[in-house]
Amino acid sequence: MLANIIVKPGRIELREIKTPKPSNGEILVKIKVALTCGTDLKAFLRGHPMIPMPGVFGHEFSGIIEDTGRGVKGFKKGDEIMAVHSAPCNKCVFCKKGFYNLCENIMDTKILGAFSEYILLSSHIIKQNVFHKPKNLSFEEAAFLEPLSCVVHSIEPLDIKKGDFSLIMGAGPIGLLHLILLKSKKAKVAVSDIKRERLRIAKELGADLVIPSDPITSFLKIPPSPPFPNGGVEGFDYVFECTGKPEIWEASVNYLRRGGTLILFGGCEKGTKVTYDTYRLHYDEITLKGAFHYTPDDVKKAYKLLCEGKLGLSRLISGRYSLRNTQEAFVKLSKGIGLKYAIVP
Ligand SMILES: [Zn+2]
Ligand SMILES: [Zn+2]
Repeated sequence: MLANIIVKPGRIELREIKTPKPSNGEILVKIKVALTCGTDLKAFLRGHPMIPMPGVFGHEFSGIIEDTGRGVKGFKKGDEIMAVHSAPCNKCVFCKKGFYNLCENIMDTKILGAFSEYILLSSHIIKQNVFHKPKNLSFEEAAFLEPLSCVVHSIEPLDIKKGDFSLIMGAGPIGLLHLILLKSKKAKVAVSDIKRERLRIAKELGADLVIPSDPITSFLKIPPSPPFPNGGVEGFDYVFECTGKPEIWEASVNYLRRGGTLILFGGCEKGTKVTYDTYRLHYDEITLKGAFHYTPDDVKKAYKLLCEGKLGLSRLISGRYSLRNTQEAFVKLSKGIGLKYAIVP
């Protein structure tokens, strides 16, 4: 089969490799659509601890079952499926405490290789995180199951009420997925970004307010405690940090109202550090909350949302490329052109 191998940062090669054969409990899936993701882009730009090189990569996908190993229940050849690329072990201390997203083994047992003709799903994933794709859902939209699960994990634990005002910092694909999900909850949402083009898309997707950020300092072009358009509330109820830049992690605290919550979604480069004003965190009772990956519950919720067919996530796809032109898609992303590309074998 043909598979894209990321050889080193900046270099992707399409190679002929052996098509895997499903053993007991495994499923071989013919990829219909795979999506580029910020994690893939990080790997392409500077390498990534979760993506070994040289190796296959790509982890957002949907497809058709090509072959099943013995003992697979609930799925057969020809079934159209959507899946995520990891599942918890259910045995480690974190799993036992219910922190399935933090499972000690979840990263070591994940599968990669969606920018290929086929991908092999392992049994622990099939048992927890593989679903039948409804006919009315496109393969493209179905491929959003993985990133949407991450965003569900970020938003669902919060008690967001109608009219709550959120700020999303960073209008990349993940920031815009936050926007779409928050708007579906009737929340008010502001979006900030350096790029005007991304703010234009945010507006189209229903942002109530878009705020350009300063390209030098990354700070919003509003003072830290402005009179907000929602009438007197000083600052946002929630801020979602979706840039993965330490200076934005630091600045984002300034845009919260007292008692507000900051969700730290964007992962920064290893070894980076941030500093916060202790008075702000303590006397204003600010909550800082990390959000990483997803639990099987999050995946189920994301699946349900996709099946309802109301989110229209295909709007985040900037273009389509063949397996042969995967490198081109990443070159575009690295130049900041486009949000997310579909790789269609
Ligand atoms: Zn992803
Ligand atoms: Zn575990």
